[in-house]
Amino acid sequence: MRFQQQVEKPPEVTLKIWTCASEDCNGWMRDNFKSDEKPNCPLCGHTMVEDERTLPVLENFSAVSLKKE
Ligand SMILES: [Zn+2]
Repeated sequence: MRFQQQVEKPPEVTLKIWTCASEDCNGWMRDNFKSDEKPNCPLCGHTMVEDERTLPVLENFSAVSLKKE
């Protein structure tokens, strides 16, 4: 059995995040950037739901990003 060749991959962390509850919007934010206990989406103003996301450490610094999928 061969091991899969190691692809250079940045280290990842699992973060608590908030995602926009609107299906038309891909907005999300990190938990520690939220301005309120129940934050609203910074992109569309919709309510947000708690979630978890595994992110490359490098992306760890953006307050607001777009989902990749
Ligand atoms: Zn939104």
